[in-house]
Amino acid sequence: MEEKLSGIVVSSVSYGESDKILGVLTLEKGVVSAICKGVKKAGAKLKFASEPFCFAEFLFSVRQNRRVVTGASLIDSFYPLRESVNKLYAASCVLEFAKRFERENIVSPGLFLDAVDCLKNLAYKTGGEAAYLVRFYLSALKKAGFGLELNGCFKCGEQITGRAFFDYRTGGFYSEGCAESGAREIKFSTYDALKNIASGGVSDDKSAEDALKLIRYFIENRADENLSALNQTITVFSRGSTLKA
Ligand SMILES: [Zn+2]
Repeated sequence: MEEKLSGIVVSSVSYGESDKILGVLTLEKGVVSAICKGVKKAGAKLKFASEPFCFAEFLFSVRQNRRVVTGASLIDSFYPLRESVNKLYAASCVLEFAKRFERENIVSPGLFLDAVDCLKNLAYKTGGEAAYLVRFYLSALKKAGFGLELNGCFKCGEQITGRAFFDYRTGGFYSEGCAESGAREIKFSTYDALKNIASGGVSDDKSAEDALKLIRYFIENRADENLSALNQTITVFSRGSTLKA
């Protein structure tokens, strides 16, 4: 059987002498795995389709639940991601999230579209990498069932002013009087950045980096996942800020 799926390569692992096994985040079927034959040989026609970040329309032949890549027409390679350390690290977080949270046959077109959107922003816009990544996580986490509740205090619904608290157990933010024990105080600027980014706005790099740290804290504690690309990205970003400062 032949199958045509739009997808982004999220992982690519050597297999045998000349093949690779790909993980492809698809619009239609979540993450699927497929073998790409002969791509390690010089001049292989499908080499481009076996590179991480390759966004293409893939043609697979499917036999007994195994997919083999038989063709691919490139939509976007997001080439400029390779030209900046910040862009590349941030983009690798998108792939990592897809691999970790998206399983085959759990179809979530939304996550695919979030990933494309984020990779485009990272590749083709200048600066703001941390904020684009925060926007991706906020949207993708919601689709994975781990939404952050940013519309006012999660307990009383009032606007949060002055001091802000976050409780990973609920994903909610609280004003001072409403936070229960176990909630932790966060910088108001972090809360503000999350709120701005969630509603399509922007934020300065430092606050967006703080927002990424809060997202990491949330994912580690609530979803029990340790995301190494996110850890590395936070380190790379903070090095950049120190240099700038
Ligand atoms: Zn309250």
